[in-house]
Amino acid sequence: MKRFLKWGAITLVAAAAIIGGIFYFSEDARQAAKIEALDKVGDFATDKMADAASDGNSVAAEFINTPIRARKISDGIYQATGVANTHLINTSAGQVLFDTGLSTQAAKQYKALEEAVGEINLSHIIVSHSHADHGGGVKLWQREGVEIVAHAEFGEEQRYLTELQGYFWNRNRTLFPFMPEEPPTNSLLAYGGIAPTKTVANRQPYWFEQGGVKFELLALPGAEGADNLVLWLPEKKILFSGDFFGPLFPQFPNIFTMRGEKIRKPVEYANSLEKIIALEPDMIVPSHKDPIKSPVKIMAGLKKMRDATRFVHDATVKGMNDGKTLEQLMVEIKLPAELAMTQEHGKISWAVKSIWEYYATWFHFDKTTELYHIPVSSVYGDLLELAGSDAIIRKAAAHVKADKPLQALHLIDIVLGENELDKDALTVRKDALEILLKRAKDGDKNSYEIYWLNFRIRDAQEKLNR
Ligand SMILES: [Zn+2]
Repeated sequence: MKRFLKWGAITLVAAAAIIGGIFYFSEDARQAAKIEALDKVGDFATDKMADAASDGNSVAAEFINTPIRARKISDGIYQATGVANTHLINTSAGQVLFDTGLSTQAAKQYKALEEAVGEINLSHIIVSHSHADHGGGVKLWQREGVEIVAHAEFGEEQRYLTELQGYFWNRNRTLFPFMPEEPPTNSLLAYGGIAPTKTVANRQPYWFEQGGVKFELLALPGAEGADNLVLWLPEKKILFSGDFFGPLFPQFPNIFTMRGEKIRKPVEYANSLEKIIALEPDMIVPSHKDPIKSPVKIMAGLKKMRDATRFVHDATVKGMNDGKTLEQLMVEIKLPAELAMTQEHGKISWAVKSIWEYYATWFHFDKTTELYHIPVSSVYGDLLELAGSDAIIRKAAAHVKADKPLQALHLIDIVLGENELDKDALTVRKDALEILLKRAKDGDKNSYEIYWLNFRIRDAQEKLNR
């Protein structure tokens, strides 16, 4: 797989340059050497990913192709764009940094911001949450005496994401095939290892004043994990939201992540939205894409997200108490027209499933076999013996014709469970997946559903080509 990045070789170049820098006497020289080295590595990594993503028109590919440049978004506030944004807030006594982007883009963002503000002299680095595209540059920006501020749960989130990195990396690469094969190992580029010097707990806002500017940090959990921290500038009524809203505004929140992460809590999220509503922001600056500048649009969007989240939560809980099945609720629960909003990031039926399992765990109380380790696939061989693969494939093809792709997929699993290269079965599977993909693209347009279906279609096609 030559097209993918080989981190080992290029990080050697970075390591050599950084070690070189250590022989200079001043911290400034060391910092400069570190930035130069990471800049080269970062360019290489970004180019490779943009190249590999160029055949897809996904949201992720759009992020990778966002150019890195600095822009002024308000008086004294600068943003460096990229996969994720980095923000510098100028005060008369140095600057405060909010979010640090991807490790491979941090050096370019540093240089762009340095050019915009002149000399960089940081007092605080604020990290919105523990995801790699927000804390990636901390190790590059970090200097002696600079306060690193994060949510009180940051350490715990970073711990589990580090411990399960291999598992999550593989799942991410399945959805985003342009990612490098292996996570970076160089300590400046690798995920994790951030040690906050100041943490902010839920319901305990933290204030500080720097160079005449007031900064308020609010722990607002429930969005992209339990450790979401936002920055509020009360004098300007600007909210730096990190990933609190996700990539679109407004949108139905992503309670469930397909790459795998702990389920997020919708009640907590709605309560956090309530706190933002009380602030009445004039501008929201998310760490992906552009600032949102209309106070009217902001207030309407915040209330809609709060009400939609509560609606789906309450309907799920009511259905559980009424004795409905999970599958019934996944179909039945729909937002009323006045709360309708995009499901490109978070999908309502998956939120229903997540809320159910968050409260009631994986034992659905339906079948004895749920409690044991023998899956339904263990009798696929018996079914094949009884019905014969031709009859099963014919029946599955009839389901495809009748626009019942999921029934077709269930049946095809029986055949492919025994022989994963059965061409007739693979053809029917691919046809069924194509129906689902068309439905997804014409319907909710959920990015993750589309990534997954594309992966399964590629997989079926590769096996058909063998
Ligand atoms: Zn992000």
